[in-house]
Amino acid sequence: MIPYGRQSLDDDDIAAVLAVLRSDWLTQGPAIEEFEQEICAYTGARFAVAVSSGTVALHAAAHAAGLGSGDLVVTSPLSFVASANAGRYVGSHVGFVDIDSATLNTDTALVPRSADAFVAVHFAGLPIDLGALAVRPRVVIEDAAHALGAVTADGPVGNCAHSDMCCFSFHPVKAITTGEGGAVTTNDPVLADRLRRFRHHGIVRTPEVSPVAYDVVELGCNGRLTDIQAALGRSQMGKLDAFVDRRNEVAERYRSLLARHPNIGVPPLPSVGVRHAYHLFAVQVPHRDAVVSAMRDRGIGVQVHYPSIQSFSAYSGSSADWPCLSADAACSRLLSIPVFPTITDDEVDEVVDRLVEVVASLTEDG
Ligand SMILES: *Cc1c(COP(=O)(O)O)cnc(C)c1O
Repeated sequence: MIPYGRQSLDDDDIAAVLAVLRSDWLTQGPAIEEFEQEICAYTGARFAVAVSSGTVALHAAAHAAGLGSGDLVVTSPLSFVASANAGRYVGSHVGFVDIDSATLNTDTALVPRSADAFVAVHFAGLPIDLGALAVRPRVVIEDAAHALGAVTADGPVGNCAHSDMCCFSFHPVKAITTGEGGAVTTNDPVLADRLRRFRHHGIVRTPEVSPVAYDVVELGCNGRLTDIQAALGRSQMGKLDAFVDRRNEVAERYRSLLARHPNIGVPPLPSVGVRHAYHLFAVQVPHRDAVVSAMRDRGIGVQVHYPSIQSFSAYSGSSADWPCLSADAACSRLLSIPVFPTITDDEVDEVVDRLVEVVASLTEDG
């Protein structure tokens, strides 16, 4: 089976993890800050706070931004559910804004004036143009789970050029991995402090009282990444550009092979000066669900990204819902085909041959 995504680990990644296992610090040690500094150096953000998952990164960001009940958080229905849950965790109302069918990212012209916060998703790794926001809500949080390594006209995704905070995930299918893990970047020292406090139970040390004293000033959690994971993340960061370059090569190969097949829609191209991270290569096909089964029968691990978040029971009757017709149309046709750094050209050719064959047979039958 060719999976739709997978991690790339070398001996030096494994050696970095073993070094931590032999050290004194498995968690709350020096590897965390070294990894965070690596993320800052790459993205250009002033601060990075590593946490235990991309989901916790989004929750921490919503919390640090001061969002709560009475606030309206809007996001894309074409995303992983965690983008929307970020608002729900802090008691906010969540609403969905339709996508631009040309980019598959939120149509920034549709973000309503009533929104207190916008969770901006870089779908598939194509950066959303936040400079184009007609109305900037009080809080802008980027869900860049797909977009580590992507670059906009304003620099690397993660530099928060048009946002308050930017959230990453290091799940094995993402650009780099720590097993599970995530991070939030920001340029605001106050937000960075709040993110760190949230990750560690809302604890504030009070050395003026005594060297061991501390206060708990708010509800936090244990959202920490371990040093074991941070060492892996730091080692992976050194390969990020090579990973994203290879993803771009794979995407170009798919594009050229699929160009002669108009019934298979290829993903939007980045504009000049923009680097796509190609977390996903999501084509649009007719009879999508039948294509999924037929491809899996042929040993190709395709996936669907995503069913619309609006379609989930947990989001039925969401308090602020606008019709999202473009998202609904895309959600019924999108199919992610394999893209990861170690996929071979032969495997890419195999995926295309099988896809063309499957789509042709289903289209002929009706
Ligand atoms: C992966 C992902 C997340 C969640 O990240 P985890 O590390 O799995 O918690 C959030 N949003 C999007 C768009 C994702 O793809």
